[in-house]
Amino acid sequence: MFNTKSSIRENNSILVLSEIINRPEVSRAMISELIGLNKATVSAIVKQLIEDKYVIEIGPGESTSTGGRRPILLTLNKKAGISISFDVRHDRISCLITYLDGEKIEHTIEEKNMNKDNTVESIASIVEDTRDSMGHCPFGIIGITISIHGIVDHNKIEFTPYFDLDQIDLVGELETRLDLPVHIENEANLTALAEAAFDNEHCSLVSFSAHTGVGAGIILDGKLHRGHKGRSGEVGHTVLYPNGISCPCGNQGCLEQYCSTTAIVRRFRELKHNDQLTFQDLVASYHLKDSDTLNMILQFAKDFGIGLMNVIGNFDPEVVYINSEVLDEIPELISFLQNYLSMTIYKNVLIRQSRLGKKASLYGATVVNLQSYLHVDNVEFSLNMEKVLAG
Ligand SMILES: [Zn+2]
Repeated sequence: MFNTKSSIRENNSILVLSEIINRPEVSRAMISELIGLNKATVSAIVKQLIEDKYVIEIGPGESTSTGGRRPILLTLNKKAGISISFDVRHDRISCLITYLDGEKIEHTIEEKNMNKDNTVESIASIVEDTRDSMGHCPFGIIGITISIHGIVDHNKIEFTPYFDLDQIDLVGELETRLDLPVHIENEANLTALAEAAFDNEHCSLVSFSAHTGVGAGIILDGKLHRGHKGRSGEVGHTVLYPNGISCPCGNQGCLEQYCSTTAIVRRFRELKHNDQLTFQDLVASYHLKDSDTLNMILQFAKDFGIGLMNVIGNFDPEVVYINSEVLDEIPELISFLQNYLSMTIYKNVLIRQSRLGKKASLYGATVVNLQSYLHVDNVEFSLNMEKVLAG
């Protein structure tokens, strides 16, 4: 197998480590109280976690109400390992390298056409450079997780509508070359995992992403909902207009042909009879209150609202996080959408703009690396939010 192996196996160790990871600082006595294990057992587990480099002591905390010695506080040894995340789109590859608490070491974006011939090399060379330059680190690189803009089932790419990545064994080729665990997951699913890691209030949420394509990631009762073949949340290919615009999925009138950034730019170019216009031109035209552009955005918002309602109707989330360049540039559309819902039976569902931007799926990929290596169910970035979102 791989040269990266976690020594965490035993259930009680996982429980103790989860408490240490997901609290700012915690003592052995507090852990004992929180998970109902006796103090001697907790102390023995913590001793092993410290020896194995997962945990460090950070000095004494406040005295307890009964007085006595001040307890020694514990925290995750965040610099013991490095997580590497990639997001691969047909026109761009981005990478996020972090410590074990999600704090960024490096974030890079390269605009280039990605395909079956260059993706393995592009990813492997970044990982090899990181390995060569990272210096001593007890766990080394804990794993690689790659966000795929397409359908992923059991760590295998089933369908990538805008490029040919589904024609290679991406995981197999990378694991052979790098001798590291490699995970792949659908971009929208990873975005949902990221939103959940930054949200400690809600257990059921939908992340609705509209960029090149449109997709939703679904977390129900704290767990990612993939569906039978990894196609849950493929809302981009639900039909909004029968006999509408043709879609690479083989259908017509799919939601993503109306609500993706690509679609709205295409419509703007048609409207203005100019193939050279960009997304920024569209935003400028909106802010100049060009009436054609305003009407186009209003129609976009209505289509978006229908797509959103269909997802909410299917999954009944507490909150929907929207990640869309159009809504980032025109944030008043969030209140339009919230009003739209307020007239329906879904009026209690919160609509929020994602704060994670283009790094959303990369944060989700970091969650997958951490969950897989540390064997913990939940990773909370909300504790550490400013640091994780910085840069
Ligand atoms: Zn489609």
